[in-house]
Amino acid sequence: MTTFDFRTVPHLHIGTGSISDIAKTAASVIAGSARIFLVTDTGVRAAGLIDAALVSLESAGLSVLVFDDVIADPPDHVVMTACDQARAFKAEVIIGLGGGSSMDTAKLVAMLLGSKQTLSEMYGVDRATGPRLPLILAPTTAGTGSEVTPISVITTEGGAKMGVNSPPLYPDMAILDAELTYGLPKAITAATGIDAMVHAIEAYTTRHDKNPISDMLALEGLKKLHGAIERACEDGSNRQAREDMLLGATLAGQAFANAPVGAVHALAYPLGGIFHVPHGLSNSLMLPPVLRYNAQAAESLYAELAAHLGLHPSTDALVEEMERIADQVGIETRLSQIGVRHNDLPKLAEDAMKVTRLLVNNPREMTLEAAYACYEAVYD
Ligand SMILES: [Zn+2]
Repeated sequence: MTTFDFRTVPHLHIGTGSISDIAKTAASVIAGSARIFLVTDTGVRAAGLIDAALVSLESAGLSVLVFDDVIADPPDHVVMTACDQARAFKAEVIIGLGGGSSMDTAKLVAMLLGSKQTLSEMYGVDRATGPRLPLILAPTTAGTGSEVTPISVITTEGGAKMGVNSPPLYPDMAILDAELTYGLPKAITAATGIDAMVHAIEAYTTRHDKNPISDMLALEGLKKLHGAIERACEDGSNRQAREDMLLGATLAGQAFANAPVGAVHALAYPLGGIFHVPHGLSNSLMLPPVLRYNAQAAESLYAELAAHLGLHPSTDALVEEMERIADQVGIETRLSQIGVRHNDLPKLAEDAMKVTRLLVNNPREMTLEAAYACYEAVYD
């Protein structure tokens, strides 16, 4: 066996309804602190998803300041505003309760308040050193896996996506409460769920740091997501389906935190940066053409994944099943449906080629021509 590292969050708490007990559940992280800064967005707040956590924290005598200005593809200025408010409040513990954007913002607030580094000094791999403030994350979507990754993705002024990827960004604790996902609309359930499946698929086929533990997590995560996604889309309050989706997304997150994602994500990022297509949907759109392009280099691995899902062991069977699911759950499958024009494709391909931190992980080398062909293949 080759030498490898495997890192993850030190404490996962999994329990449907358990957010209402957060003060007790996360007592070891909160211990000795009195001031909690809770990072979320207005949609999550309006849906009442932070209410039970607030009651629990405040009844334990803790003082909580809620920051709900996070937006999708969080810009760096939102992170800085959150930091200003957290500093003025003298925050001692950071909680991120929401989707990937809220959790990614919370990670950076905890880092920027705890260390002397600036945000621009943290961009890249292994550049953020900490220390950071105590950090607790609780996802409200089953998709990004951000609660178990050391990664935060931020949008800079020009629309470029910058990543901070360093071990201190792992939270002290992640809380998985499937009840927080019951109200997710069908389209978001579908897109974030497919994104989580992409995490598993790309982790399993990554060129760097693939290892037996990430493989096991990718296989189990993909199976749970595959088995539950259509039920979760049909009936959002199906408890079993929601629990499987949430755990599946977290397992896939643990996998790709160690065995990083590749060209599906690299080609998806420009769609988010330029057209503000949600992360999940952009990955769902780019999955089929990238897998078909990769097939000559990764056929046997895609075949293993397909077989694990009970399908014919081949790339074609895996891709066709993913296309069937996207159709079945009713999300967009063509770029022309999301406002992309044909003359945007060269710029998309050019921007995708800049995401070298992910392209290096792709099982087959991605060229500018191939990237363009991938966009073209799902244009209309
Ligand atoms: Zn993703």
